[in-house]
Amino acid sequence: MSGKPNPKTAPATEAASHSNFIKQRIDADLAKGTYAQRRWAGEPGLAADQAKGDIDPAKIRTRFPPEPNGYLHIGHAKSICLNFGLAEEYGGICHMRFDDTNPEKEEQEFVDGILESVHWLGFHWGKDDKNLYFASDYFQWMYDFAVKLIENDLAYVDSQSAELMAFNRGSFQEPGRDSPFRGRSIAENLKLFEEMRDGKHADGAHILRAKIDMASPNINMRDPALYRVKNAEHHRTGKKWHIYPMYSYAHPIEDALENITHSLCTLEFEDQRIFYDWVIEKIASFGLLQRPLPQQIEFARLNLGYTVMSKRYLKQLVDEGHVEGWDDPRMPTIVGMRRRGYPPAAIRLFMERAGVSKAHQWIDPSVLEDCVREVLNETAPRRFAVLDPLKLVITNYPAGQSEESTAPNHPQKPELGTRTLPFSGELWIEREDFQEVAPPKYFRLFPGNTVRLKYGYVVKCTGFKKDDAGNVVEVQCEYMPDSKSGTPGADAYKVKGVIHWVCAKSALKSKVVMYDRLFKVENPGKDSKSYLDDLNRDSAKTIEAYLEPSLGAATGKEGFQFERHGYFRHDQYKFIRTCTLRDSWGVRS
Ligand code: ATP
Ligand code: MG
Repeated sequence: MSGKPNPKTAPATEAASHSNFIKQRIDADLAKGTYAQRRWAGEPGLAADQAKGDIDPAKIRTRFPPEPNGYLHIGHAKSICLNFGLAEEYGGICHMRFDDTNPEKEEQEFVDGILESVHWLGFHWGKDDKNLYFASDYFQWMYDFAVKLIENDLAYVDSQSAELMAFNRGSFQEPGRDSPFRGRSIAENLKLFEEMRDGKHADGAHILRAKIDMASPNINMRDPALYRVKNAEHHRTGKKWHIYPMYSYAHPIEDALENITHSLCTLEFEDQRIFYDWVIEKIASFGLLQRPLPQQIEFARLNLGYTVMSKRYLKQLVDEGHVEGWDDPRMPTIVGMRRRGYPPAAIRLFMERAGVSKAHQWIDPSVLEDCVREVLNETAPRRFAVLDPLKLVITNYPAGQSEESTAPNHPQKPELGTRTLPFSGELWIEREDFQEVAPPKYFRLFPGNTVRLKYGYVVKCTGFKKDDAGNVVEVQCEYMPDSKSGTPGADAYKVKGVIHWVCAKSALKSKVVMYDRLFKVENPGKDSKSYLDDLNRDSAKTIEAYLEPSLGAATGKEGFQFERHGYFRHDQYKFIRTCTLRDSWGVRS
């Protein structure tokens, strides 16, 4: 893991108050009043539209701009926490914007899923979620701007084949070569571009390119593409358009139309910043976009070990049935983590600890799991569950009798109340809580030893039964009737071992799924032919467990701590393990 300070050890509050290079930029802009005179007419628009509005009440405007082509993953959560978090901190607004400029692969299902995930993480896009935008709503403006660029001899239609265009772009060592179409007249460019828009040309026949400099040392400035022909239907604009803008042209325009001040993106876009600035600078020079213009700031993307994050890979895992779906609890998607039982507060805490940097970040999933444990430790009600059951018979307990014990829901939080545990002469205990011959320092059940059944009685082990194969199938005990927890006699008994249990008569039998990491290696695909070769094929194990009866009322809304085992969440007729109580990875062989 790179990046200092170590987020695993840094206290949350300290990490939260850390400044970073993005905050420093914002602080400087606020101090100088860089954006103080911007006007905002209440919605995205041209310079002339915005000029009719009042001074923008939002101190800064950021945006979270996903492409609706899949469900969000933990990497997106980083961008969400950063953009919405900064807006909150600085009295600004973060726009929720769908970057839906690519007609293929985009779907309404993903739009809905993304909105739900951002809400679930705890964020809102302005008052009453008013600032929700779609890049496709700006298609006409983007088109008009392209026409302006053509009219000013800053763009042209190129009709080279894709291969030739790539070849003529040159390389890092070698300048590019001008296209034979670079000298087309403005009139011809305008006519061709209009025909492209109207569907008169086949996909790939022409593209619109910026006319900048084929010899630029930055390849991104060698006449980058602005528009391509794509005779495809769009999930929102239908068949209206036959051309679609390129991301690097569309994105700065979207930002500028929306009054974005600080446009945060991941480091891969660093050498495109010069083109980002070129696009909006030219359009603003025609008086069409309000100044001062947004500024692009890059930060390192979040990478989490033992998983994959690209939507393409996640989709493949779903489509090929390696997981149950986008919300499979092993997936690094927000819907998956939600189903796994990760609280949104834990994900936000994790992002605070991971911090913001310019250096590549690889973070171990144990850092995220620690955040999950910390949050759930505070909130999760405690319950008894026996995951590897062994029968315990109390030989001196009156046959047919039963009674109740009272147990707190949370040992440190009396305000969370209590629950009732039925008790009788037959209980389930964990198999590992009994040993025929006790190893050193073993204080639980073995013949002759005494333990407390937590919140119940003290019992003394008197014997056990084995089956023909030699497996212990029953443990026998005698109980001390005056030792019940919470009664005056309880303190007279001093025992070293305390174990949990559930009453055999009233226990709920339930499936419990124990999850392991989805991949066997930290960086799937790095040392193998395909990341699929590194899948852990044994990452979900279902067991049958006995649970205390109060768990019958579990709804799946809250997580529980199964004492001594970990955190669990109810999910469709079963329980699933969110995480263990302690980091169990470090001690693995
Ligand atoms: P992927 O290729 O993984 O699907 P993407 O970048 O194509 O990711 P978008 O929907 O375009 O996905 O991204 C929305 C926003 O989330 C962008 O601003 C992008 O920079 C940010 N983002 C995506 N992945 C990460 C990551 N791993 N760390 C930080 N930010 C990320
Ligand atoms: Mg993408």
